[in-house]
Amino acid sequence: MKELVEVLKFYKEIGVEFIERSGKSPTDELREVTQEILHCTRCDLHQTKKNYVPGEGCINPEIMFVGEGPGETEDNFGRPFIGNAGQLLDRVIEKMGYTRETVFIANIVKCRPPGNREPNKIEADTCLPHLIRQIDILKPKVIVCLGRIALNYLLGNDYSIMAERGKVFSFRGTPMIPTYHPSYVLHQKTKETTSKAKWDMWHDMENVLALLKGKPV
Ligand code: URA
Repeated sequence: MKELVEVLKFYKEIGVEFIERSGKSPTDELREVTQEILHCTRCDLHQTKKNYVPGEGCINPEIMFVGEGPGETEDNFGRPFIGNAGQLLDRVIEKMGYTRETVFIANIVKCRPPGNREPNKIEADTCLPHLIRQIDILKPKVIVCLGRIALNYLLGNDYSIMAERGKVFSFRGTPMIPTYHPSYVLHQKTKETTSKAKWDMWHDMENVLALLKGKPV
């Protein structure tokens, strides 16, 4: 603070009358992307959605979760992962020692694909720049990608989520660990397969926590 006062005194002495703010804060930038998303007409999904779902969370998250696209509940309220899958995700986040407010949650596409179908490649590719801007602003330490669709649209590949979950990938320089989509866990038919899917997902999240602590994954 003392240094700042000295610098300002110096500026005054040499005749500087105002200082222009250089650059925008991350909060301003995020607000700007959110506004762009809320007015986006880049693909046809905006015609059938009820609400845009830009994503939500904190401005400097350690972890950013990326799902596939909003479902019906998310479309109704304009918020990501607030239906059944979201409730499971909330529990996972809390077990990891975080809350929805201390991470960031977003999706590959910001508008609900009709009837909850998978977003197609054109929709995903058209929407991806919004997510990339969000990632560039938020600078998460790790991205957790939820499910095969998110994994493959991010990496432009055809990976199997079964084979790749829990491993560390990189998305534009940010470490990224894929895991199951919470809906996959919820749609298991037996108690045994549900437990196994939950256990696998938790194992993947332990890798996320290890990576954040700089431990080997
Ligand atoms: N499934 C997703 O992929 N994203 C949501 O926001 C909700 C359900």
